[in-house]
Amino acid sequence: MDKNKKPIIVSIIPARGGSKGIINKNIREICNKPLIAYSIEASNKASLVDYTFVSTENSEIAEIAKRYGAEIINRPIELSEDHVPDLPVLKHAIEYLEIKGIFPDILVWLRPPNLFRSCSDINNTIQKMLDTNADTVRTVHLVKESPYWMQIIDEEKILKPFIEGGEIKYYQRQLLPKVYKASGIVDVTKRDVVMKQGKLFSKENHRALVIDRAQVVDLDNEDDLLVAEYILKNVLGENFHQKSSKKAIFFDRDATLNEDEKYTYKIEDFKLLPKVIEGLKKLKNFDFFIISNQSGIGRGYYTLKDVEKFNNHMLNEFKKHGINIKKIYLCPHAPEKNCDCRKPKTKFLKQAEKEFNLDLNNCYVIGNRETDILLAKNADCKSILVPTNGKEFDLMSINPDYRAEDLEKAAEYILKNN
Ligand SMILES: [Mg+2]
Ligand SMILES: [Zn+2]
Repeated sequence: MDKNKKPIIVSIIPARGGSKGIINKNIREICNKPLIAYSIEASNKASLVDYTFVSTENSEIAEIAKRYGAEIINRPIELSEDHVPDLPVLKHAIEYLEIKGIFPDILVWLRPPNLFRSCSDINNTIQKMLDTNADTVRTVHLVKESPYWMQIIDEEKILKPFIEGGEIKYYQRQLLPKVYKASGIVDVTKRDVVMKQGKLFSKENHRALVIDRAQVVDLDNEDDLLVAEYILKNVLGENFHQKSSKKAIFFDRDATLNEDEKYTYKIEDFKLLPKVIEGLKKLKNFDFFIISNQSGIGRGYYTLKDVEKFNNHMLNEFKKHGINIKKIYLCPHAPEKNCDCRKPKTKFLKQAEKEFNLDLNNCYVIGNRETDILLAKNADCKSILVPTNGKEFDLMSINPDYRAEDLEKAAEYILKNN
């Protein structure tokens, strides 16, 4: 792959006619749209994808695929049987394209049954490959049931641990290592992995993009179709697959961005912490928000007006450096009010998700307190702990995804892991 030229990126959607479990699965309608259309439309909407092809031997599928905006790879019958693995199908697709004069560098493998896939998922997976130069990137999801706690029943009908010693070593849920499973939502692999190494996926230079477990469905029988339709209609929305969503960073304010001894509200006390500007500048491709608990208002130590003045002063300081904070969410309530906006409650995160079309799973919360990390965990965001006023980390019973010495280090971590 020539580093200096933009790689050619082609989606391949494998869709044969025969299918077990559900007859004509690939063209069965879900919310008045054939299953295969969800993959085609998501791919066509993904800005990093240059071409969207459906590989099929079936003329009816080809007709429908064209109608929804895909081009067709005519797959031979012998590559359309039940037992044929993915590799020869992808190999054939590449050879077919190259004969037609399209020379893909990167292939995006999109299985039609994985319909809870947005164009952002496709872009994010490709972007990860471009950023890391991995040979393969696959979407994975966190598995709830850890293999360390699984059992097998042996020939003598004795119940035994699946992994010897697992339950002893990981005697508490918190100790369990996170385990992931390939979701099949988006698999991206380089042409040379397939054509030169003769593999679907690289074994060595292989990375993962973690996606939400809720996006993973099995479409094996008629009931599954009904469930998928229900989820699209009532949870994700029928146009979920075409929806692009953005990544954002939610900052705590006090002792994370500005110095804070306790109840900071006077402009003359405003002082940004070291490396805040450097860090925010590095993250210029993200949207920025602040979520702040200001119980000093509810306790009567200062007013909402005081806080707004202070915040405007801070926003102006940021603007001087070309840094834009999209919105500040603040909870003015004292803790005993038991409001639903005080961190670690997620009301403001959910509000921002809707208001700004965010992809919360790929958002970060950065703060200096346990409440900030809990906020992230409660909303399935990623979390970074910074030391209080740049000095020491708060004692924590819950682990953040990362502990960063300062905001510049936090920024470097985010860029490396995105
Ligand atoms: Mg704080
Ligand atoms: Zn509140």
